[in-house]
Amino acid sequence: MSRRKKPSHAWVYIIWGVNVLALLTVLGVAILNTSSLRASAADETLATIAPAPTRVIPPTLYFLPTLTPNPRYTPPAFETSTPFELAEGPRPTIIGFSLSARPIEVYTFGAGEREYLIVAGIHGGYEWNTIALANELITHINEHPETIPSDVTLYIIRNMNPDGEARAHGVDGRVNNNGVDLNRNFPSENWVEEWDRNGCWIYRPTTGGLYGGSEPETRSVMSFIQSHEIEVLISYHSAALGVFPGGVPWTEPSKKLANALSKATGYPYPPIDTGCEYTGTLADWAVENGVGAAVDMELSNHRDTDFQENLKALKAFLNFNP
Ligand SMILES: [Zn+2]
Repeated sequence: MSRRKKPSHAWVYIIWGVNVLALLTVLGVAILNTSSLRASAADETLATIAPAPTRVIPPTLYFLPTLTPNPRYTPPAFETSTPFELAEGPRPTIIGFSLSARPIEVYTFGAGEREYLIVAGIHGGYEWNTIALANELITHINEHPETIPSDVTLYIIRNMNPDGEARAHGVDGRVNNNGVDLNRNFPSENWVEEWDRNGCWIYRPTTGGLYGGSEPETRSVMSFIQSHEIEVLISYHSAALGVFPGGVPWTEPSKKLANALSKATGYPYPPIDTGCEYTGTLADWAVENGVGAAVDMELSNHRDTDFQENLKALKAFLNFNP
């Protein structure tokens, strides 16, 4: 028994010895591995901390179109119904598009701090002579830049309703392509979709829109006014009723402005009262939203531009302080 036990004891020692050696080897390798990982991590941190070279972006790399035009691309045609362009002078800025994608343009004159705005053509082809007047004023100011006082910037939106003007010169040209009266579509406090037609324009069906500011033409002018600090505003119409101050009730500065413009032009102020209640107008919304004074001003008929009278009005307008 004892002789048999001795060799078996030796085997046990050998096996355990090998086991312990193997275990130590594994532990050793593991420890070495961990410490080398730590070392390399530390190396990486150091590499990150080291200042990276300044990245230089080539100035033309990202912003130029490819030199080969896309053969399938058709550039949009920005057509105005009555093309107007100064032979020499400033290009207009496009501030938005009508429902049928006609551009709504603004001309800018002068570079003073005080911002003045004239809007024409809100009733499209029904009052096309206001657009003709705006074109004449733009041409005149371009030839006589001294018209603009040095502290003034004047903006002229020459045709706010180009779809209406393209449709017809006459009663059919008044509304936009949704059948909306744009001068009843501004989200002023008294905006309504439908109104009592007594004393109002009744020659074609129209609405104030689904909500105040529902029409793209309205929103284009709203965002233009909201992105500027317009002090004084004229919205041109025709015909014959006179000068309507903005505000419900009319604000004092707007009444003063209406009075000054009436004196310059001979247009009636107070305006002729037909019994119509005006809602959602540009002038009302403007004075409710920070414009100092605003009026709706009507030319004397649907045909003439009354240029000389409105040149005097321009002078009174640009010298008006609300
Ligand atoms: Zn009008």
